[in-house]
Amino acid sequence: MVNAFSFACTACGKCCNSPPAMSLPELFGHRDRFIGCLAIGRVPRRRLGERVRVGRHETVLDETDIAAFDSIADTLLYRAGDTFSIMTQGYDYPSLARCPALADDGRCAIHLSGKPVTCEVVPLDPLVPDKLQHLVLAGRNQSAAYLGADCIQEGQPPDATLIIAAGEIKDANARDALARRRRSLEREREVWGRAVFESLRKDLFDSPAALARIPQGGFLTISIVPALLVVASTSARCRQLCLDYIDSQLALIDRSIEQALLRRRLDDRPVTQELRGFAHAYQRARALLATPLPAMGSESSAPSSLPTTEAYLSGADH
Ligand code: SF4
Ligand code: SF4
Repeated sequence: MVNAFSFACTACGKCCNSPPAMSLPELFGHRDRFIGCLAIGRVPRRRLGERVRVGRHETVLDETDIAAFDSIADTLLYRAGDTFSIMTQGYDYPSLARCPALADDGRCAIHLSGKPVTCEVVPLDPLVPDKLQHLVLAGRNQSAAYLGADCIQEGQPPDATLIIAAGEIKDANARDALARRRRSLEREREVWGRAVFESLRKDLFDSPAALARIPQGGFLTISIVPALLVVASTSARCRQLCLDYIDSQLALIDRSIEQALLRRRLDDRPVTQELRGFAHAYQRARALLATPLPAMGSESSAPSSLPTTEAYLSGADH
């Protein structure tokens, strides 16, 4: 079978080495466990004829591949000269090297109660066309996060599920998870992403000096407040949901910093500083949102589109 990979997760927890990307409703649902932030990354623009090689796997991108990358960029990403991803995700001290939902026995503590869709998508990547997912798996197979877990195997061994072959996702669960994560990213873009992108355009996306803060192959993390302000502006109910979220997050940040101070690690200091910055941004947003703006109106006078955002935030419409 051409470019075939199989997958068998033993839930060893090895790849749960940092908080995952999560949608805003997922962060709202786990507000006492995950500190939310916005992660901004640069997504390389692919060119026709480009040779992409991972280990012994190599592909030359054709027109269909470029069209598939363009379609992903048009629906899930943001273009300002280069292409960028803007996603909400969990944030924690990298020195802990674990997701806050990873239990001591190596299992996911929220597996049955709202595990993020990103984790269901593992080991695939929603920002890569299906036809090229074998390159994602080839890359993950060599990466430190999966090393020794042996959960990704080439071909079709009897003890693993065939996940991709000949450019198609063969496993129905993987296909479904990928579709749900892409739908969720599309919805995030609609609900708050485009507005946040525009609000950051001048100070970040149009400024080469500011863009230099996005690390190569990594993410610039900033406060989640710009996304909260967008959704809070849609109705009194959304504003209240955001205020409740902010209160939980302030308490969680306090607990997290307290534990870091007890660890007394030098490499935790910049993270503590960033968390204090998040807390200040939350407090400023709290003050802003505590006074209802007349334009916000009440639930009864809200236009019919507003309950959609409310349902989205509370996780009821996905
Ligand atoms: S490293 Fe592999 S086996 Fe372990 S939890 Fe992650 S996907 Fe599952
Ligand atoms: S939420 Fe669960 S599956 Fe996802 S990274 Fe955390 S521990 Fe792992």
